[in-house]
Amino acid sequence: MKLSANNPDRKSWLNVLHGCDFPIQNIPFGVFITKDDIITIGTRIGEFAIDLSAFHQLGYFNGIPLTDDIFMQDSLNDFIADGRKTWRLVRNRIADVFDNENSTLRDNKKHRDVIIFDVNEVEMLLPIDIGDFTDFYSSKHHAKNVSDIYDLKDGPLENNWLHMPLGLNQRASSVVVSGTPIKRPVGQTLSKNASTPSFGPSQKLDMEVETAFITTAANHFGEPIPVNEAEEYIFGMVLLNDWSSRDVQQWESKPLGPFLSKSFASTISPWIVTLDALEPWRCESPKQEGLLPYLKPEETTNSFDINLNTYLETENGDLNLLSASNFKNIYWTMNQQLAHQTINGCNVRAADLFGSGTISGEDKNSVGSLFELTWNGENPITLKDNTKRTFLNNGDNVILRGYCKNDKVRIGFGKCTGKVIAGIESK
Ligand code: MN
Repeated sequence: MKLSANNPDRKSWLNVLHGCDFPIQNIPFGVFITKDDIITIGTRIGEFAIDLSAFHQLGYFNGIPLTDDIFMQDSLNDFIADGRKTWRLVRNRIADVFDNENSTLRDNKKHRDVIIFDVNEVEMLLPIDIGDFTDFYSSKHHAKNVSDIYDLKDGPLENNWLHMPLGLNQRASSVVVSGTPIKRPVGQTLSKNASTPSFGPSQKLDMEVETAFITTAANHFGEPIPVNEAEEYIFGMVLLNDWSSRDVQQWESKPLGPFLSKSFASTISPWIVTLDALEPWRCESPKQEGLLPYLKPEETTNSFDINLNTYLETENGDLNLLSASNFKNIYWTMNQQLAHQTINGCNVRAADLFGSGTISGEDKNSVGSLFELTWNGENPITLKDNTKRTFLNNGDNVILRGYCKNDKVRIGFGKCTGKVIAGIESK
């Protein structure tokens, strides 16, 4: 099916400001609640949130096989489960109706009034009811930095890392939508030279700059997904901040890996940008050699050119750019991650979430964590207000941005933000 929604020459009758993440070529999907307490699935063009259940009720999806209440939901799970053909029909139709040349809705004020909202007057909710959440460890530069910081002579890069996408099973319950405050976690830590652990607020609270992809129901229990088919089961992507407590992590991680140090919170951006919308930014994935057959793709253009910028906003409102990176720094592709996840027969369901792992580029200005930026706290950074940071302070607001750009179009993910607040009360 032609992705007519991606037509770079298309303009909308809704005003889209220059540099906005949501031109008519994006058409992401999310869930929002209006001032009148109506919860609906929607999309966004410019500064407008579009109520897709009203749009559907008024007949604008006529001819597309959809159940009546498919958008009248508090999650995208059922729509995602409908599969790629439906996603494409829906996205193409939305693009047609909001096209400059199409007067049907444009000239119907009554319909416009119930379909279109000012995006600042709605509240974004978590877009999916997440069943399972995997977090991978797929950036080579990140894995190298971690090995160097801990001085691992015989680390993962010398052993298994280049042969498969490593990952861990994470908690889905604590994935929250952008804007949700993050309480500083407490936990057990082992201080330098101590022989017994102490308990208290984490002193090394960190961010992890990641993206995540969301799947549809892909395979039956016991049936792997072939690497060359994986992509048709990927609905779209969001930005992900996989908050991490480095001091808790260091003490608890042997031998089974991170546990409470990562499960307290992960933040995602509210608008899911479809893989179809990202298609114009498809690019070569990193060169890989000696792959086992189940991880070896026929094509090598399995990555996407997505710029990722991370800011720390201090309480005075200063924006400090911490990192400028790109999704194409990820070594293992989403297809390989999904093929590996299911090679043992593990089944994947609609609205499962798969984090890329911390995305770090080659140089210091492109690393995806304060752990790497300050070398585990050894080299503090100085912010615009002249305060220093090794890890996050209470009051710090971490903002992830992601966007793709070419000569004609720029699309983006909006913001993924979370402000650190005073901690969890231990009882
Ligand atoms: Mn992570």
